[in-house]
Order: sequence, then C-alpha cells, then structure tokens
Amino acid sequence: MSDKNGFLRNLFLGDVLEDKVFPYPRMKEEELEVVEMISDSIKRFGKEVDQDAIDQAEKLPPELLEKMKDMELFGLIIPEEYGGMGLSVSGYARVLEDLAVQGAAVGVTIGAHQSIGMKGLLLFGNETQKQHYLPKLASGEMLAGFCLTEPNSGSDAASIRTRAELSADGSHYLLNGEKQFITNGGLADFFTVFAKTPIEESGVKQDKITTFIVTRDLGGVSNGPEEKKLGWKGSSTTTVYFENVKVPVENVIGEVGKGFKVAMEILNNGRLSTSTASFGVARLMIDMSIKYAGERKQFGQNIGRFDMIKEKIAHMSMLAYGMQCVGYLTAGLADNGEQDYAIETAVAKVFSTEALWKICDEALQIHGGMGYIRELPIERFLRDARLGVIVEGTSEILRALIALEGLKTLGKFLKKHGLKGYAQKTFTPARMGKHHPTFEKEAGLFCKSVDKLSAYAMQLLRVYKKDVISKQLHQKRIAEAVIDLYVMAAMIARTSALLETGRSKEDATTEVYMTRSFCRMAYERIENLMDQFDLNHDSYLARLADKLYEDGAFLPKIADLGSQEASQTQKKSDLATVA
Ligand SMILES: Cc1cc2nc3c(=O)[nH]c(=O)nc-3n(C[C@H](O)[C@H](O)[C@H](O)COP(=O)(O)OP(=O)(O)OC[C@H]3O[C@@H](n4cnc5c(N)ncnc54)[C@H](O)[C@@H]3O)c2cc1C
Repeated sequence: MSDKNGFLRNLFLGDVLEDKVFPYPRMKEEELEVVEMISDSIKRFGKEVDQDAIDQAEKLPPELLEKMKDMELFGLIIPEEYGGMGLSVSGYARVLEDLAVQGAAVGVTIGAHQSIGMKGLLLFGNETQKQHYLPKLASGEMLAGFCLTEPNSGSDAASIRTRAELSADGSHYLLNGEKQFITNGGLADFFTVFAKTPIEESGVKQDKITTFIVTRDLGGVSNGPEEKKLGWKGSSTTTVYFENVKVPVENVIGEVGKGFKVAMEILNNGRLSTSTASFGVARLMIDMSIKYAGERKQFGQNIGRFDMIKEKIAHMSMLAYGMQCVGYLTAGLADNGEQDYAIETAVAKVFSTEALWKICDEALQIHGGMGYIRELPIERFLRDARLGVIVEGTSEILRALIALEGLKTLGKFLKKHGLKGYAQKTFTPARMGKHHPTFEKEAGLFCKSVDKLSAYAMQLLRVYKKDVISKQLHQKRIAEAVIDLYVMAAMIARTSALLETGRSKEDATTEVYMTRSFCRMAYERIENLMDQFDLNHDSYLARLADKLYEDGAFLPKIADLGSQEASQTQKKSDLATVA
C-alpha cells in the first residue's frame, strides 16, 4: 500500500485507500457563490446563442466571441494576479457544465483555450512568460490552441515530425512543420507547439520533444481552411503551418527535451474538463427525455409507462450520476494536491464521453422520429458527442493506459516483495469502512470486485510477463473493471456524503437508487469479465480479423448460395449419384 500512489493504482494491489475518496470533496463556500454567479450569467448569455444557426453556418459569430471575452470566460483558470478569475479545478469543472449546454461552438472554444491551449504555460511556464502572456490570454485578446497532432502522428504522439533546430548563435529555434485538426486553429494567436529538437545527452545525439510558445506575430505561422465536420461545427478546426518560424529560446516551456511529459500532463488535465462538460449535456438530454416520456402518448398511454422506456431513463440517469460523481471526485483530488491521478482522469474521460454518447443515443430513441429532426437539438448534441471518445486520447488508447499503468504498479510490487509478499498481502481481503451504513452491501460488492481485479492482474503478469503489453483484450477487460470500480467508489462516497448532511434516505431516494443499481450491475459486469481469463473469444476474433485483412474486403455475398433452381438441380443430381 502506498499513499503516494493514487486510489486506482492501489486497487491493482488489492488495497482500498479510502482516505483518497472519503469524505467526498466539496468546494469552498466563497467559490461556490462565485461559480453560481458565473453559472447564472452563462444561462442569461445562452438566450443570445442561436445554437442551430451556428451549427448551420459552421461559425461562431464574432459578436458572440466578443461577448464571451467581456464575460471574462477566457480567464476562468488563470490566477487573479494575472487578470483571471483563479477558479479551482472543481470550480472550472462546474462552469464547463453550463458552457457545454450552450453548444460545442461556445464550450469548445473556451474549453480548448484553457484546458489545453494555454495549460502548458500555467503548469510549466516561468514567471516572465506568465507575466507576458497570461493577462492577454485571460482577457481573450489572445486565444490559444494546442498543437500536438500531425498528419502522421495522432495517438502515437511521440512520433511527431515537426522540428525545431537551435540557431548557430543560440538565440532562437527555427521551427518547421504542420499540425492537423487544431481546435481554435483559425482564431488563435498563441499556440503551444510540440516539436522534435536534437539533444546531446552523455555524448549521444538524439531527437526529443520540446514545448514552445509560438505566436502569430513571430511570422511564418499560418492556418489552412476550416475543416468540414460531423459535429463541433461552430468551433474552429484547421491545420496550422509553421514555416521557418524564428522562436526565441525564451519561448521554451519547461525544459528542453521534456516536452512529451508536458503534453501528457496537459492532456491529463484536459481530460478532467471533458468529464464534467459531458455531464452538463447529459443532464439536458435526460431532462428532455423525462418530459417527452411523460407527454407523448402511444397505444393510449404515455410512452414513459412502458418498461422499455423506463429502463432507458433509469440507465441514462445512472450513467449521468456516475459522470457527475467521478468528474467532481477527480477534480477534488486535483484541488487537494493529490499527485497521482492520471488513471483517474483517464477513467473519468472514457466513462463520461462514452456515457454521453449512449445518453444522446437513447434520448434520440425516446423521441422517436422527432429526435432525428433538427427542430430538436438532440441530433446536434449526438453529433457533437461523437468526438468526445476520439480527442484527448481515444477510448482505446486510454483503456490501454488504465490497464498498463496499474499493471506497472503491481509489477513493481512483485519485483520488490516477490510472490510471497503478494500472497501475504492478499491473505487479507480488500476492505472499505467509511461508507454510510445504507451502502454496506455495495461496499462489500466493491471490495469483492477489487479482489477479483487484483487476482486477474496478477495472473496476467504471471502468465505473460512483459508480453502483457501486447495483450490488448486482457487490458480491455481490466480497464472495464477499473472504470466500473471507480464509478462505484465515487457514487458510494458521494451519496454517503449526501446522507451524512442529514438528508433522510427518503429525501435522497434518487441518489440512493442510482448508487445501489449501478453498484449491483457493475459488480455483475466485473464478475463476468474477470471470469474470462481463459474462457474468452479473443483468439477467434483475432483469427477472423486476420482472415478479413487477408481477403482485403468483406467478401461473403448472398449470390454465393446460387439460385433456387440451381440448388434443386444440384439436389437431383446428388440423389442420382447416390442411387
Ligand atoms: C474536431 C477535432 C479537434 C481536434 N483538436 C485537436 C487539438 O486542438 N490539438 C491536437 O493536437 N489535436 C486535436 N485533434 C486530434 C485528435 O486528438 C486526434 O484525432 C486523436 O488523438 C486521434 O488521432 P488520429 O486521428 O490520428 O487517430 P489514430 O491515432 O490514427 O487512430 C485511429 C484508430 O486506431 C486506434 N488506435 C491507434 N493506436 C492504437 C493502439 N495502440 N491500440 C489500439 N487502437 C489504436 C485509435 O483508437 C483509433 O480508433 C482534434 C481532432 C478533431 C477531429
């Protein structure tokens, strides 16, 4: 058990570090008031935002952008001494909930500016850089973009080709390259750019990634036309080109050659914001669905009376509550100075973005044909939601990260303490004790599932050793279990906190039902997954995919069966042969 390691990392060792999730974090009174004021002003501003018109025009109107600047929405996380509002991670997360509901154009432009565009400067910039840029970024005089992705480098971020060569006099870097799909690409004048720089370490020359502040006024920076997209239509997405840009050495963020870590830290933070922003939209979809289910009549009754619709509403609400619980738990961890929460943010991002996609899909289904029509915003939110599972680390990459990070921790433990140490440790089963008595059963299910996860991870390491890196379907099962476990823990902690405020079980019925239902269903899912170490379909599926790659296309066609007549003739000739 290690306090330095995060809550989820410890689950791989069978340890439940309750103090990391109990008591469920709360915002400070003063900040709650500020956030509520911002929230009210965003709701008023929302009345001026014609989301459908923006979606059709595929452009955020300049006057709205100016209004967003006047409302100081571009400086939410910038400390007050640099002209921003200085919100905490939780406060910012709460504001993003409201911004997301105003449509992707508004939410994404503000979110990308802060969550990733200038986050590197905030996290790793020096005082001179901060004083120079942060006030302009806070006022919106400068908008920011995050430039990592390239045409040949997406998920594999370490393979970028953009280069920065130090000048002979050591005064600047010459930057050349092309960055693809950059949010705010057509609006920003401040870019956080990742480029390969040649570095000599212990006499060996190699290319390593360095992070640079690149502003348009340096010259040589240009952007391509706006991309035509499925969703996020009013948000600017372009390629950004860097041609012989002279970037002063003073513009390096952090250390030369340490840019990969900077990129990962920024994305780690960005993922957190995605989580609560997704929740904002999820709540809107559920509210609309509950209302419609209570109004729309078919077969002489409200469609909401049918069990298949009830099931959808119940599932949607459990998912949304899970999003809210993990989003604010993780934000609270960051605010409380927890150092190791990379697995938690990855889980929060995968869970929330996938849950939002499901919720939008079900909301559309509940609305039937109406859901498909543009008159309602559901189809637009569904299109927008699709991107969540791709940006800032795809769901596949993050599932691998969740599993491999945890397995690494278990591997280190085994190296230090051996199998005997592990056996001694797991002799005592996982334990949780800080929950409200209402959740005695759920806490028990959580602990049983932790033991199962730890045993599965152990078996995986014993059987495959370093080869676990290539065992993606085992990684996927582990990640699924970890995702469910984090949501379970977050729900138990959050609803326990609610009951401990003095609310009776009756007054907290919705939250209690959601927690109970989710935990019980998650337990069954985990049991089922953790039983699939040997009994699974992995090799069949891999063989099938390999065969399809060999065929080069999907070849089976109905004509392969031949016609009825041909089949009759064949039968007759077969009979004749037998006779
Ligand atoms: C609208 C929009 C806005 C964006 N904004 C920004 C931005 O502001 N800044 C920025 O830098 N980037 C941005 N991106 C880029 C985005 O982050 C990438 O698209 C994303 O990281 C995925 O990279 P890719 O598109 O190259 O897909 P690829 O990496 O080519 O992946 C294709 C598929 O293969 C899967 N895959 C890849 N590797 C593995 C593996 N090892 N195991 C299993 N599956 C794997 C992926 O999960 C995915 O399903 C944006 C993209 C879009 C569409």
